[in-house]
Amino acid sequence: MSSRPGSPDLPLRVCIVGSGPSAFYAAEALFKAAGVNARVDMFDRLPTPFGLVRGGVAPDHQNIKSVAKVYNKIADHAGFNFFGNVKIGRDLDAADIERHYHMVVWAIGCESDNRLGIPGEDLHGVHSATEFVGWYNGHPDFRDRSFDLAAATRVAVVGNGNVAMDVSRILLESPAALAPTDIADHALAMLRKSHVREVVLLGRRGPAQAAFSPKEIEEIAALPEADVVVTQAEAALDEFSADWLERQPRSTHRNVKFLTEQAKQGEGHKPKKLRCRFLVAPVELQGKAGRVAAVRVQHAVLEPDQSGTPRPRSIDRYETIPVDLVFKSIGYRGVPLPGLAFDDKKGIVPNVDGRVLQAPGAAVRAGHYVVGWAKRGPTGLVGTNSPDSKATVEKMLEDLQHARLLHPNQSDIAAFLRSKGVDFVSWQDWQQLDAWELQQGTAKGKCRHKEPTVEALMATVRKLRA
Ligand code: NAP
Repeated sequence: MSSRPGSPDLPLRVCIVGSGPSAFYAAEALFKAAGVNARVDMFDRLPTPFGLVRGGVAPDHQNIKSVAKVYNKIADHAGFNFFGNVKIGRDLDAADIERHYHMVVWAIGCESDNRLGIPGEDLHGVHSATEFVGWYNGHPDFRDRSFDLAAATRVAVVGNGNVAMDVSRILLESPAALAPTDIADHALAMLRKSHVREVVLLGRRGPAQAAFSPKEIEEIAALPEADVVVTQAEAALDEFSADWLERQPRSTHRNVKFLTEQAKQGEGHKPKKLRCRFLVAPVELQGKAGRVAAVRVQHAVLEPDQSGTPRPRSIDRYETIPVDLVFKSIGYRGVPLPGLAFDDKKGIVPNVDGRVLQAPGAAVRAGHYVVGWAKRGPTGLVGTNSPDSKATVEKMLEDLQHARLLHPNQSDIAAFLRSKGVDFVSWQDWQQLDAWELQQGTAKGKCRHKEPTVEALMATVRKLRA
């Protein structure tokens, strides 16, 4: 009698594409599944693991980054393998995966960002938060970006979510405070030359609908060099929001209370300002000689939509705010991968409860699953991914029970990659690189040093192997 996949003599072979939090939580759930013997091969196009924990979480939030210790423990499992520097579409495609695995989990996140769709968006000096965050975190994709902070004094950040908070804080924090972190050397060098004194945070809705967490805005107010400034008029809630607030979580009340208190303090006395604006949305980015010079905003009032959620309605009142740079922080968006369906409207992989669909609204594609931002869109904190990935793995285990699997006829992916000349980074390679980055960091007075390009990372990996 032949063995069933997942039995002791025929491990369930699972490929996880991506190595961020949702990928590791999926691996953990598979290893913990009762009565299932799973082997997980995790792939990343970068030579390094951990996705947004390495390339997204701000360098001055090392407490959040320390979650990597949890992922290291998961990787200790005997059934875990890592294949870094392997890109889907270049080194491996969906058909290769189907030939080698019983199931595949797409943990590919949301690698792009939304556009404002207004005139002037492509002027010099208009950047996405995604680029800036990747650049200061030493993400190889963004090494070649440049942000002229030396020539800027006032900067606009569009959107007021937690990414906008990270961007604002990095712009307002003293470089001396950032120096001991794992911030990219090129970013620290530019931040040391920065003349940014004011960040204007543009929220299209009111203070009760601000997307930031209380902790994040309060952290900026606690910076030695920056005040959080909001006018009494913009901190005040309209009647509709005051009523709506009653039904909101404690964090929303804390935001409103904080902003009301800040409004009473006026301009403050610190040299730098985070100026929180509400009920204003950019309608045009104006330039001078090809560079952004101002944001024209249109004011709005709030009205309930069909579900009672406050939405902005533009009114006939405009304002022009002179700025030297603009950072758009209006949410991330997935990018299509070859061989995998994509929901262009939602910017995610179409799925029902983590089961990937053949196309948006079409049938389930057996053996394919999705977790994290690629599944639910770009929302939630690192920890949100744990229950989310577990939920997808539950569906995988249900399908395993009913033998709804792929039918692989090959099992040695390492040999396959070697036959194609792919120099993949193993978990052991990564552990050596990790130790080296920490050691180099210590020598430089930082917690970690990161080589800024894939070529430099791979050269280091090869040197360490030798
Ligand atoms: P987000 O929380 O969804 O915030 C997006 C912001 O952009 C909102 O203020 C939104 O306003 C605004 N926006 C969207 N489209 C706009 C437009 N066309 N014009 C003007 N404003 C627009 O997204 P995020 O900041 O990218 O964060 C993504 C997720 O990561 C969130 O769950 C966040 O909490 C999490 N995160 C957490 C941390 C942390 O814990 N330290 C750090 C970074 C990120 P509306 O609300 O009106 O739509």
